[in-house]
Amino acid sequence: MVKILVTDPLHEDAIKILEEVGDVEVATGLTKEELLEKVKDADVLVVRSGTKVTRDVIEKAEKLKVIGRAGVGVDNIDVEAATEKGIIVVNAPDASSISVAELTMGLMLAAARNIPQATASLKRGEWDRKRFKGIELYGKTLGVIGLGRIGQQVVKRAKAFGMNIIGYDPYIPKEVAESLGVELVDDINELCKRADFITLHVPLTPKTRHIIGREQIALMKKNAIIVNCARGGLIDEKALYEALKEKKIRAAALDVFEEEPPKDNPLLTLDNVIGTPHQGASTEEAQKAAGTIVAEQIKKVLKG
Ligand code: NAD
Repeated sequence: MVKILVTDPLHEDAIKILEEVGDVEVATGLTKEELLEKVKDADVLVVRSGTKVTRDVIEKAEKLKVIGRAGVGVDNIDVEAATEKGIIVVNAPDASSISVAELTMGLMLAAARNIPQATASLKRGEWDRKRFKGIELYGKTLGVIGLGRIGQQVVKRAKAFGMNIIGYDPYIPKEVAESLGVELVDDINELCKRADFITLHVPLTPKTRHIIGREQIALMKKNAIIVNCARGGLIDEKALYEALKEKKIRAAALDVFEEEPPKDNPLLTLDNVIGTPHQGASTEEAQKAAGTIVAEQIKKVLKG
């Protein structure tokens, strides 16, 4: 019987599909040692972003044929190590685009209007109407870094708010940007200089690590708001902390962090930082879609 090991929470509909092709064991919150032990005789491993499928995990797996990532980014999986062993990696790139784009808009509005801070104050019994004065999205320039699936959904929604949109993505055709009504810029520094709001939607790779570094942050407007619903490692958090602390930029709204869960991250001590614990794809709809799409792909691979 095929052994399917699921090490992160997976939608029940996906489990049902997997049960049609093998014995499913759901074991979440494993330590590294437990994972190494359990993966030994697994034919299939299914994860979300929590489990780190590193080279040693892959090497320990004697029977592994396929790794399913119920979501988009595969940066928690050593795809190179998997490929070397002939293990197929499948994911669900489309499943969460709308959910992440909606959270991006939510964080953008929340940061612009200080909604989390105002809510906390209200609940403390205060009624402070001056302290939380915000800014509008309307008429502002939004800089979108990465115009793929999620970036494009953000563009559509930001247009409805009356924002002007500039984009940085060297890999998309000019015509795509034109049809979206986005002005493409060739240089990320130009985007950082011109944008009132900046949102990141690129994958984390050695090339994109710290794509927003000290140099880029120094170019931003005093009122700039940065939103990151992609990956924490895209921003130099130390440089971001210093800029926010000294009020060189207005605010940051972060769903992702260089280290997750964050340990004593100084960003979280600042009033002008709001955030969520990697919730981009955490909706009923996205989880169901990610799980079932990946389960169907695994089924196909197993059936050859
Ligand atoms: P995508 O592959 O559709 O789009 C990524 C875009 O980035 C592409 O258009 C690509 O050309 C562009 N790009 C690549 N390298 C670049 C560079 N150096 N500079 C500028 N642009 C570059 O991916 P997507 O589905 O839109 O997802 C984007 C990222 O969002 C994922 O890689 C993932 O890390 C993140 N994500 C986060 C969550 C969450 O829970 N917060 C959920 C899903 C995805």
